[in-house]
Amino acid sequence: METIIEKIDPVHPDFAIMGQAGEILRRGGLVAFPTETVYGLGGDALNPEASEKIYKAKGRPSDNPLIVHIADREALEGIVKEIPAKALALAEAFWPGPLTMIFEKNGRVPLATTGGLDTVAVRMPGHAAARELIRRSTGYIAAPSANVSGRPSPTKAVHVIEDLNGRVEMILDGGPVGIGLESTIVDFTGQTPMILRPGYISGGMMERVIGPVCMDRGLMAEDSSVRPKAPGMKYRHYAPKAELTIVEGEENRVVETVNGWIREKEALGLRCGVIATDETAGLYRAETVMSMGSREDEESIARHLFDVLRRFDFLDVACIYSESFHTPRMGQAIMNRLLKAAGHRVIRV
Ligand code: AMP
Ligand code: MG
Repeated sequence: METIIEKIDPVHPDFAIMGQAGEILRRGGLVAFPTETVYGLGGDALNPEASEKIYKAKGRPSDNPLIVHIADREALEGIVKEIPAKALALAEAFWPGPLTMIFEKNGRVPLATTGGLDTVAVRMPGHAAARELIRRSTGYIAAPSANVSGRPSPTKAVHVIEDLNGRVEMILDGGPVGIGLESTIVDFTGQTPMILRPGYISGGMMERVIGPVCMDRGLMAEDSSVRPKAPGMKYRHYAPKAELTIVEGEENRVVETVNGWIREKEALGLRCGVIATDETAGLYRAETVMSMGSREDEESIARHLFDVLRRFDFLDVACIYSESFHTPRMGQAIMNRLLKAAGHRVIRV
């Protein structure tokens, strides 16, 4: 299939282009589009055939449910059985924004969209063009991240083109995204609201609004028998082609140790790369050192992570060493993605 690629202004997208994109969605076709978190691969959430196309285009396991995107609060009532008071309070506080909430679904949402579950994940994106596209559709867009399953999520249109060109009807290029990590997911179907995936909105931010929130125990576990509750969190994800190792410890010690390993690898004819920060990038003696930004600016680290992982795939490196990023607010979200990318390979020095 020939994919139409169109540049749009993220705040004031072109009327005619959005009309065409909305039309494709209403017909059951697929449109990749920018949101404030990562690029999404959109299809009509109420049309099981569109959802099936999404799974096929991504190569996504069919038990991994899709998040339904809405443009206004009223749309939520149309697809869920009930809205708990605490969920309403979080919607007031953080929607539109990078927060996904899980509810009991009603009969309008096909099981093909929810991976066979009786629950549905819903988000109202904070990106103006994304909401405009939702309004031009049936009002409900199922949209997982617009990457081939297992690859890092796309934070720029070129990432989407790399993965999905020829597999979808249209790609909307709204420039680089603002946040760079997928939404926080919180589940309201149990006793206490539970975080199934950490993101920009932290547990602390939610607790200030609704009181206690717990964290899915299956989340940070290495290969424990505790299964994460979000089906998608159990899959291997984000891994670059080269072997990625996270190196933890005091800064000087990390730099010194990694430089030693690089010398050893190079003696064997193997090239290495390093994922560092602006503060440390100059200290490593590797062929390729990529900075995630300043350690003082955790939003920059979050925004650059997936792009850095993808850029390494174009380089001839056998191994990548990464610093760790336990930053104050988004550290949990950043480390959750980085640990997955590294297959939980962490060395403390
Ligand atoms: P993605 O759209 O690629 O960001 O992935 C969506 C994530 O949301 C996956 O980890 C899914 O498993 C999770 N998810 C979506 N719907 C549900 C649901 N109803 N219950 C639990 N997790 C869900
Ligand atoms: Mg994804």
